[in-house]
Amino acid sequence: MRECDILVVGAGLSGVSAANHLSRLGEEDVVVLERLSDGPFNRYHRICGEAVSDRMFNMAGFEPSGVIRRVDRICIAFPGDIEINIPVSGQIVDRPSLISNIRDGCSADFVHATARGVTRDGDGFIVGLSDGSSIRCNKLVGADGAHSVVRRDVFGHVPQEVLPIVNNIVPGTGDGSLRFEVGGEYPGAYKWEFPSSDGMLSVGYIKGCGSVEGAVETGARNMVIGIPPSVVDGSCILVGDAACLANPLCFGGIGAALVSGRKAAEALSSGDVGRYQRWVDRDLMFDPHFMEAHKSFSEWGDEEISTAMEPFRKGYSLARGLMAMIRHPKWANIYFSCWIGFKRGW
Ligand SMILES: Cc1cc2nc3c(=O)[nH]c(=O)nc-3n(C[C@H](O)[C@H](O)[C@H](O)COP(=O)(O)OP(=O)(O)OC[C@H]3O[C@@H](n4cnc5c(N)ncnc54)[C@H](O)[C@@H]3O)c2cc1C
Repeated sequence: MRECDILVVGAGLSGVSAANHLSRLGEEDVVVLERLSDGPFNRYHRICGEAVSDRMFNMAGFEPSGVIRRVDRICIAFPGDIEINIPVSGQIVDRPSLISNIRDGCSADFVHATARGVTRDGDGFIVGLSDGSSIRCNKLVGADGAHSVVRRDVFGHVPQEVLPIVNNIVPGTGDGSLRFEVGGEYPGAYKWEFPSSDGMLSVGYIKGCGSVEGAVETGARNMVIGIPPSVVDGSCILVGDAACLANPLCFGGIGAALVSGRKAAEALSSGDVGRYQRWVDRDLMFDPHFMEAHKSFSEWGDEEISTAMEPFRKGYSLARGLMAMIRHPKWANIYFSCWIGFKRGW
């Protein structure tokens, strides 16, 4: 049986971010497992809106790379012709290029293999692989996405919600904004329209509501939301989608994947693994209010949405936001969570 000090399962953004930071911290005995190779890997990592803010890159300690297009505004259209514009600073990335650039800075050994199951072995873990072999490690990072084997076997946690999301690539140029269309054909939810590569838009929504004309490529993937009660168990840490860290309102998960990879590496290398749990518990990015707002919002009809958003018909400002919270305290959490989520949750 192969042995290593730190094993990372999954070489998506959270996994390569962890591996990259472990290298920077001088951790030499690191193995990264990835079940997909080449074509399937690139296809898997292209079914997404691929929007990520400058702020998240900064927090994750990476320069933006693999950039397809800059974005400077989020535009949210509500029923009743109400539109909110939020200035932002970010980009649409080509994720396989970004992953490859981050991976180039790793000294870890990348192994093409599928983790089938995890068992405890003293203070360490044994990860069984699909070819019948296994790897023993002292420390384990679960970066294996929405259907994490590490989360299942070590934490026994089932995500609070699994949302099947369809993403289409359709012809169109957009206006450089990240556009969200709330309600209507997408009851209690929304459709997003992001600029993609030249002359194309990336259009997504929760499966089962709405449709998109002229789609030239379609993919579907599950988004998991609702962070487990614990994301650290002994020397095992969950990051990115394995920890269900994506924002439940704007579905931003790329930034959370990158930053959590960094935080996990720092916690493992410092010997104080618990600091990762403390970060997840305290950071506003993962506040439980987002999940509550998601649940309330998913029960809203168009009429309730337009009534709640009426105070912003002439545009959003902090003063209008505060006035709306005072006038409609029952929606205060939705106002607050939307503002923070769309501004800082991606
Ligand atoms: C349709 C859609 C659109 C989205 N749009 C956006 C967006 O615009 N902006 C944004 O910020 N977020 C977006 N997200 C969320 C974002 O894609 C995820 O939060 C992010 O991909 C999480 O990264 P990760 O590295 O944790 O997981 P993943 O990207 O899922 O990577 C996990 C890796 O682990 C590998 N793996 C899985 N199981 C095993 C195993 N058993 N053994 C070995 N390897 C394994 C997988 O092959 C994969 O390479 C979107 C999500 C969806 C579904």
